Amino acid sequence: MRDHAERADVSAFQHIRYFASAAQPDQLPPDRGAEAAFVGRSNAGKSSAINAICGRRKLAFVSRTPGRTQMINFFSMEKDNCLVDLPGYGYAKVPADIRNRWEHLLGSYLLYRVALRGLVIVVDIRQGITALDTKMLEWFGTTGKPVHVLLTKADKLGRQQQVKQQNEARRQLANILAHASVQLFSSVTGDGVEEARKTLLQWLAPAR
Ligand code: GDP
Repeated sequence: MRDHAERADVSAFQHIRYFASAAQPDQLPPDRGAEAAFVGRSNAGKSSAINAICGRRKLAFVSRTPGRTQMINFFSMEKDNCLVDLPGYGYAKVPADIRNRWEHLLGSYLLYRVALRGLVIVVDIRQGITALDTKMLEWFGTTGKPVHVLLTKADKLGRQQQVKQQNEARRQLANILAHASVQLFSSVTGDGVEEARKTLLQWLAPAR
C-alpha cells in the first residue's frame, strides 16, 4: 500500500523538464497554471532537494549552468504546473547593483505572481533559520501564501539534535507568520521526500 501511494506521488513529478529562465521580470513565462517555488541560502541543499523530490539526479543542476545561477528557472510538470528554482541568496560579497537586480526580480516574482501557490524555503538544519531566511519569510509573508521549510541535511545530525532544531525552527516560524510548516529532509537518505511531495501536490492541486 505504502509503495503504491509513494509511486502515485512521484508520478506527478516524473515528466518534469526544464522549461524557461528569466533574468528580468519581463522574461517571466505567462502567469498561468500553478507554481511552487524553492528558495534558500546558497549551498543549503536546494538543488539536491529539488532533484530528490522529482526523483531525478541532475534536473535542478541546470540552474547551475553558467549564466543561469542568478535567474529564475522554471521546470514544467503536467497540467500547466511548474516547480520554480529561485536564485540562492547569502553570497558573502555581491556587488550592490547585482543585489538590487536580484531583489527586483525576486520581488516581482514572489509578491505579484498569481500562479505562485506557495514557497519552499530550504534551510541547512545545522544552521537553522538565519537572519536572511527571516527577511525572506517576512517579505513573502505579506502575500498570505503558505511557506514550507525543509530542514535539509538532517542525516548530518542525530535524532535528538534533529528534533531540537525542528522545534526551534517551529518556534521561530510561529513568531513570523501563520501559514508555515516545517519538516526534516535529507536528499541523501530520502527521509522527508514523500512528505515534501505531498505538500507540493496539495499546493498545486486545482482549487475546488
Ligand atoms: P544549493 O546551493 O542550495 O543548490 O545546494 P546543493 O544542492 O548544491 O548542495 C550543497 C552541498 O550540500 C552539496 O555538496 C551537496 O552534496 C550537499 N547536500 C545537499 N543536500 C544534502 C543532504 O541532504 N545531506 C547531505 N549530507 N549533504 C547534502
